[in-house]
Amino acid sequence: MLTEDERRLLFVQALQARERAYAPYSGYRVGAALLTETGQVFTGANVENAVYPLGLCAERVALFKAVSEGQRRFRALVVVTENGGMPCGACRQALWEFAPDLWIWVLDVSGQVHWQGALRDLLPHAFGVQDLPADEGG
Ligand SMILES: [Zn+2]
Repeated sequence: MLTEDERRLLFVQALQARERAYAPYSGYRVGAALLTETGQVFTGANVENAVYPLGLCAERVALFKAVSEGQRRFRALVVVTENGGMPCGACRQALWEFAPDLWIWVLDVSGQVHWQGALRDLLPHAFGVQDLPADEGG
């Protein structure tokens, strides 16, 4: 869990990241702020493309930035959308790989909390490394 001050700071960072979203096609801007266990924050915004499937969600932008900078352990994620829309299934799965115990807040741009809880509650019965056959080579 986070303190109220920590959550407020992550909200501001996610809100600022949302301003940098590139969403000319959907118009649906999303910002995310991912807190590592060491206290670093990685932000992300959704980035769309004229070739629609190439776009990437804010949550995965933040996650991939963090992982590519050597971070793999996370405490919390704050997501800000216009209306409190939830993280998509792909982002839930991507986050699960590194942080099944992640705590997530979803807020709208006014700061109202629409949902908070554990990633485990958003992705029950998740597929994970435990489901892969052991030592199959490959
Ligand atoms: Zn997503």
